[in-house]
Amino acid sequence: MTTFHEALRLILDRALPLPPVRVPLAQALGLVAAEDILALEPVPPFTNSAMDGFAVRAVDCAGPVRLPVLGEIPAGRASAPALESAAAYRIMTGAPMPTGADTVVPVEEAKAGEGWVELNVPVRPGAHVRLAGEDIPAGGLVVPAGRVLRPAEIGVLAAIGQDQVPVRPRLKVAVITTGNELVDAGERPGPGQIRDANIHSLAAQVRAAGAVPVCFPRVPDRREAVAEALGHALAGAEVVLTNGGISVGDFDYIKAVLEEMGAEQVFWRVAQKPGGPLGLWRLRGRLVFGIPGNPVAAMLMVEEFVRPALRKMMGFSNLHRPERTGILAAPWRRHSADGKLILLRVRTRARGQDLLAELTGPQGSGLLSSMMAADALALIPPDTLAIPAGGEVLLHLIDQPEDH
Ligand code: AMP
Ligand code: MG
Repeated sequence: MTTFHEALRLILDRALPLPPVRVPLAQALGLVAAEDILALEPVPPFTNSAMDGFAVRAVDCAGPVRLPVLGEIPAGRASAPALESAAAYRIMTGAPMPTGADTVVPVEEAKAGEGWVELNVPVRPGAHVRLAGEDIPAGGLVVPAGRVLRPAEIGVLAAIGQDQVPVRPRLKVAVITTGNELVDAGERPGPGQIRDANIHSLAAQVRAAGAVPVCFPRVPDRREAVAEALGHALAGAEVVLTNGGISVGDFDYIKAVLEEMGAEQVFWRVAQKPGGPLGLWRLRGRLVFGIPGNPVAAMLMVEEFVRPALRKMMGFSNLHRPERTGILAAPWRRHSADGKLILLRVRTRARGQDLLAELTGPQGSGLLSSMMAADALALIPPDTLAIPAGGEVLLHLIDQPEDH
């Protein structure tokens, strides 16, 4: 059986960044720049006023002075007049500075009448003037390759006129749930049936990772149905997540069908709990994850294995959640020495210098509501048999952004 860490390595080795594309700026939020982006023009493009006030020459305003006001310059004026003598222009925020003027006196600091202005406070040369290129000089590196585009980057790219951005594209990820027992969330389950929670939790996780989930109609536990759904999924997405039917039950067809279709098995079964039946295949240039159906196992597998892979394919350099050493609040004991890595759902809180980790409650892999309480996963190494209260555990902080 593959170990937890080996499985992650096998996945990440095959999760290759997608070729860059150009997308409209309005679609670029959260994506990763695929190239260095330089400013071809300065921002601001021309020297302009930072205040509503009076454009003057500082030399004319050494002491209290009364200056004639030659005119008014609103924002959007194509060109400003020249200021050649001791005089002022009324100027609005964002309007081009008259050539010759070097300073703006805010309207609040001036006394103005019809055609004149009085300045009684000494002015600081250059005050309230925004110089061309002072925000971003022409030729400067604005967004380096690999940078995640946040609202601030989006705004700066707009300011330099980059309305099409070279990025790693948003991945399309097919999500297929399987099982004769499942009905839609909006349906009332009949005898022996349950609602399909996983199509929603997994699609939400894919979306939360920045990718686009493509949800396929649920697949009954029949070979032909599984094969047909996989065929459609492979055609419509770059990564395929199948859910359920990957274990050793009599109606678990995912693995068999993938093999019939000629998939290359990268691994199947990982020495971990929950999520033991996890598998990865390669087929028609796609990665196909076989994810077990137990709702908690499914979510943990997406969190620990799929999400880092999706992020790597979308060009993110930080693939992993913050890791911390926590302190277990209560003693923990392994039920059987099975050599498996165990993922515990925990809630953390600070206690002095320590990060205390409390189990969210019973850890059964079907107890989906326990996921709501968890903000971290404790990873118990395969050879650890027991941890006393106060003992150390490695934590993955799953509510926090990736930091490495
Ligand atoms: P499987 O991996 O198909 O053997 O399913 C394991 C357990 O998870 C069974 O109890 C299933 O009923 C349950 N399960 C499988 N798929 C889903 C799903 N989409 N939503 C909720 N529970 C599921
Ligand atoms: Mg099933």
